[in-house]
Amino acid sequence: MTVAALTPPEHQVSLVDESVTPVDFNCEADVVGLTATTAMALRAYEIADRFRARGVKVVMGGMHASALPREALQHVDAVVVGEAEELWPQALQDLEREALRPVYRHQNWPDPAGVPPARRDLLNPHRYIASETLQAARGCPFACSFCAVSSFFGRTYRTRPVEDVVAEAASLRGRPMILVDDNIMGHPAYATRLFERLADLKKQFLGQASTTMLKTPELISKAAAAGCRGLFVGLESISPSILARLGKAFNVVTQYRELVKRLHDNGISIIGSFMFGLDGEDPDVFNRTMEFAEQADIDMALFSIVTPLPGTRFYEELQREGRVIERDWSKYDGTWCTFAPRGVTADRLQESLQKIYRDFYSWGSILKRTWHRFEPMVWLINSIYHRRVRTWLYRTRQGVPYSVAGS
Ligand code: SF4
Repeated sequence: MTVAALTPPEHQVSLVDESVTPVDFNCEADVVGLTATTAMALRAYEIADRFRARGVKVVMGGMHASALPREALQHVDAVVVGEAEELWPQALQDLEREALRPVYRHQNWPDPAGVPPARRDLLNPHRYIASETLQAARGCPFACSFCAVSSFFGRTYRTRPVEDVVAEAASLRGRPMILVDDNIMGHPAYATRLFERLADLKKQFLGQASTTMLKTPELISKAAAAGCRGLFVGLESISPSILARLGKAFNVVTQYRELVKRLHDNGISIIGSFMFGLDGEDPDVFNRTMEFAEQADIDMALFSIVTPLPGTRFYEELQREGRVIERDWSKYDGTWCTFAPRGVTADRLQESLQKIYRDFYSWGSILKRTWHRFEPMVWLINSIYHRRVRTWLYRTRQGVPYSVAGS
């Protein structure tokens, strides 16, 4: 929607999200722009191949193509590496002059102050539980080894003017907004100003933040006053040595329960993210993580096998060690083991992941974690996941691909 907004007005844009709408391969188009996560990259290449077979030019951007432009260029005419501001209008101009270059790359990080409001009119809101997404800033001050955010967006925190974000938020309809920033509390002074202004709108929102928010507890209450009802937090592991290995030693395991309690006291639910498969992990970690998640009343959780996504330090490390064993990108969704683990087999890791999902989203565990704090949204998401997990396990046994994380 943001790239559509960056498109000069003389061009007509239609937007297709294949997770809800099929692609019309016969549509009239001068150029097809594609973006895809690593897990969707092969599908994006299939789409590109079909359009190019008709003579339609294809330009690809996004994290995967930015990390591996040479691979993407086997299927597309041009790759926009990094953020699209300036580069996408430039690519369109070159296309009109029939002088499209294979790679577009910015010299400096674009200033997000110039980002126009997203073209939400191009999506059908009825196809989504939440389509009111909004971005306030880009980048993250941290550099966790498995995460592509700081290599893609940089380690500086680049913010949009608070007034612009608030004006865009005010234009959204009544549903809860999703602030898609990777770490909405990464810059406490900016977050404070933003939350104070958002509070006037009396809207609700969900977002993502790091555990470092505990250092400025007043920020949590300001987020709640601004309408925050849920936060996705990368807890990653309950083992300090594994966190150190991930470059995430700023997560303090002994403070996890306090963090959850403080969020709950402010009416904010937590979606905790945990990953498994790191060197040095003991096999009992799945049981201990399950026990912790239940005792700490984690509302919802995403579990994954750590995945060497191109563009991350973790990928480079494993590449150097010759341990990346899977090149089928569709398996890079966190449910498959794509590298040679140490001290455990890949099959065992995958079975343990399936078990923790089954246990965490069993009705018994859902009740145990949520009965004393009834939140309709938490119940709804837990019951959706209860069903998704069972469908995922069934389809996995049948050998049919299905992503438990969904979209
Ligand atoms: S995992 Fe979170 S805290 Fe770490 S670099 Fe990525 S966005 Fe930042």
